[in-house]
Amino acid sequence: MRPDDEVGVTICGDKSQPNRSEENRVTDVNPSMELDPTSVHRATVVVIGGGQAGLSAAYHLTRRGFASALLEPDAPQTYVVLDAETAPGGAWQHRWESLQMETINGIFDLPGFPSPPIDASEPSRDAVPRYFGSFEAKFHFPIVRPTHVTAVRSVDDDPEGDLRVESDRGTWLTRAVINATGTWTNPITPQYPGAESFLGRQLHTQQFEYAEDFAGMRVAVVGGGISALQQLEEISRYATTYWYTRREPVFLEEEFAPETTGRSTIDKVTADAEAGLPTGSVVSYTGLPWSSYALAAKERGALERRPMFTRIEPRGVREADGTFTPVDVILWATGFKPALAHLDPLHLRNDLGGIAVRGTRVAAEPRIHLIGFGPSQSTVGANRAGRAAVQELAKMLSDDHEKAPAA
Ligand code: FAD
Repeated sequence: MRPDDEVGVTICGDKSQPNRSEENRVTDVNPSMELDPTSVHRATVVVIGGGQAGLSAAYHLTRRGFASALLEPDAPQTYVVLDAETAPGGAWQHRWESLQMETINGIFDLPGFPSPPIDASEPSRDAVPRYFGSFEAKFHFPIVRPTHVTAVRSVDDDPEGDLRVESDRGTWLTRAVINATGTWTNPITPQYPGAESFLGRQLHTQQFEYAEDFAGMRVAVVGGGISALQQLEEISRYATTYWYTRREPVFLEEEFAPETTGRSTIDKVTADAEAGLPTGSVVSYTGLPWSSYALAAKERGALERRPMFTRIEPRGVREADGTFTPVDVILWATGFKPALAHLDPLHLRNDLGGIAVRGTRVAAEPRIHLIGFGPSQSTVGANRAGRAAVQELAKMLSDDHEKAPAA
């Protein structure tokens, strides 16, 4: 067991520099303090989440001179990253094995750190976390893992006062939060009558592992997004599949053009996010590309879309036309929503369930920035949002400094 593990804290550092990491472990983190959920720490900025978005924020905070709140707690401006995972990689470490580097849409490089050549057939859940891990090791970000943030609250009524970030590893008092918690931990499973009576297996994309697990079965795949199509195609190699969507899926007639279609999609999502509308899935804005797996599914006859069933019964589903289809498995490939429950004490949501933003900043709460959210829900968007959030917060904090009475 490494000494880091003994205290349950990962301070990311270059393990090729033993002197530095030895020092950090012994002098800079008080193990009992870190393990004690009642302990209180301070950082000027707390980043919640250590995926692509959180790492981008960490990189830009470091570049702007924010010190590690773990190593230099008394520096004028400090930050810390609290991440619920036990290892680097954000949600990528949980993707299904067959989601290889060649079947994902593509990963944008982390800032200042080009990705190494990666074997196209390598599972993304191995390659991406390895890449993130070397980024963290190079830049020594102060990441505390695993730390699950349970709530963020205002300390008092002062809108420019501190926020309290509560976690299972202690509380942090901070001036601002950059929230980068992604969507993976908040899967959407629609409610259909009779779901609890089903005698077969129900699972969400998030729990999908291997298509072979369904060999010889009858599988209802629900959802019209990219993950639904990929999993439908894979499962249809081994099982009888039925594909259900609420709306007729729209396939793109032409190739997706990042310069034109991509930009207008981002404009649409940005407009929705700024209006405080809950943003939909990416394909609800772009349509579905005729990818290799979509074509393969079509060829195999698996792209025969059915309208959503109306009811789930113990041994199958009741179709919209009243007929019964026996199924053994229902796979809910119905997407994810931003994982923001820990922000509920701040009452940021409007009546529509959305949170209005201006860029990355929450419109009604300038101490909170949401990155990897709305238009930045992609690896390129997450990168840019990390930089934008840090830029704006640095300005807010320097304005604070100017307003403060001289000591
Ligand atoms: P995540 O990678 O989800 O990181 C969030 C982190 O926050 C995690 O480590 C999580 O544990 C942590 N966290 C969550 N809640 C808490 C909490 N309360 N306290 C502390 N920590 C918390 N985008 C692309 O650009 N290209 C692709 O090919 C692509 N493929 C995708 C495939 C799938 C199946 C899915 C679901 C999404 C895909 N995306 C893709 C979108 C992708 O999710 C984003 O691009 C990006 O990886 C998200 O990064 P993130 O940092 O916002 O979130």
